[in-house]
Amino acid sequence: MALDIRSRFSLRPVINVSGTMTSLGASIVGPQVIETVAGVLPQFVEIDDLQRRASAAIAAACGSESGYVTASCSAAITLSIAATMTGDDPGLIERLPDTAGLANEVVVQTGHLVNYGAPIDQAIRLAGARVVPVGAATEAHGYQLASAINERTTAALFVVSHHTVGYGLIHLEEFIAVAHGKGVPVIVDAASEYDLRHFIAAGADIVLYSAHKFLGGLTAGIVAGRKALVRAAYFQNGGIGRGMKVGKEGIAGAIAALEAWRTRDHAAVRERERGYLQLWRDTLNGLPGLTATLDADPTGNPLERLRVSVDPKLAHISAWDLVDALARPRGDARPVIARDHEAELNYFFLDPCNLHPGEEQIVADRFVEEIGHAQRASEPIVTPFHQRDARRQAARLRWPD
Ligand SMILES: *Cc1c(COP(=O)(O)O)cnc(C)c1O
Repeated sequence: MALDIRSRFSLRPVINVSGTMTSLGASIVGPQVIETVAGVLPQFVEIDDLQRRASAAIAAACGSESGYVTASCSAAITLSIAATMTGDDPGLIERLPDTAGLANEVVVQTGHLVNYGAPIDQAIRLAGARVVPVGAATEAHGYQLASAINERTTAALFVVSHHTVGYGLIHLEEFIAVAHGKGVPVIVDAASEYDLRHFIAAGADIVLYSAHKFLGGLTAGIVAGRKALVRAAYFQNGGIGRGMKVGKEGIAGAIAALEAWRTRDHAAVRERERGYLQLWRDTLNGLPGLTATLDADPTGNPLERLRVSVDPKLAHISAWDLVDALARPRGDARPVIARDHEAELNYFFLDPCNLHPGEEQIVADRFVEEIGHAQRASEPIVTPFHQRDARRQAARLRWPD
């Protein structure tokens, strides 16, 4: 690595096998986006016109009537729900989050109440709306959705994420049919989904994406959907949306990212990722106590990850201690950040989507090194899992020190 900007800021040169995480800087922004953003930064533009171009680009990519760009997908949730409550009435837009007298209830399945870095129910409440959970964590039915909807209901929110409960819930098609049967618009949070057309085609009124996840744009949120709702969401910029504004660079970046997405050689990207996964699978399966298998993406994105199951007796280390060791290396080895939401079950994942060439070998080598270290330790490295979360919270609270 010749010139790494991170050394200028004394930042660790982390390797991301976790996924498109905000906490790691989201994704690798590609050259087409960087060029566009560099071009627009020194220029004045008329933002309404730039957003008109964004609308056309989003409509073309998503098969929607229109679209616009906001600060993030989280902002897009708040603003599209606001849109269902206020329409394009500027008086109501300026009155939010005071929703007295307005229909303000948002139905959402309990198993969809995720935390993507902040609780999704807060993104709803931020608009002045009220969350009405439907069903239990692992079980929901169409009749429960139907009976949760009344004259105070303003929207139905459907979340697509690996964080949602993966079984027992109402599927998209039924969710849309029930909500529409009651005259309620459906907003789909598809922040991290590859498929830009499926949800609009399935009948969603609004679909939301992150521009900085698979699309590789700057940090921004994409709102796609029916024109009247998209307009009403856009007009929230004169209200609660002001604090969630996106600049010219984010809008231009999203347009460029959508163009780059259309022309990207997706098959070649998959092929490269498959190579990484094969290297890791072969290396890890040769190490004591590790079992590595390929795992399809839980929401159906066209990618696989490596599932690394750890037998702490044989490996001499627990899954979570191995993840922590990879992230906090000895000497000048590079930190490797794995995908560890489920580490307490003694497995974690390696995501191949955010690597620079050559980093895949470093990842494989780091496993050999850390398992070797654990094997030589006099005692198995197995710290109590319940202390790990407290340790992480404490470390966070020490910021900025
Ligand atoms: C990442 C994510 C978000 C938040 O997206 P941002 O653009 O980072 O605000 C919301 N919902 C889901 C399902 C996500 O995965």
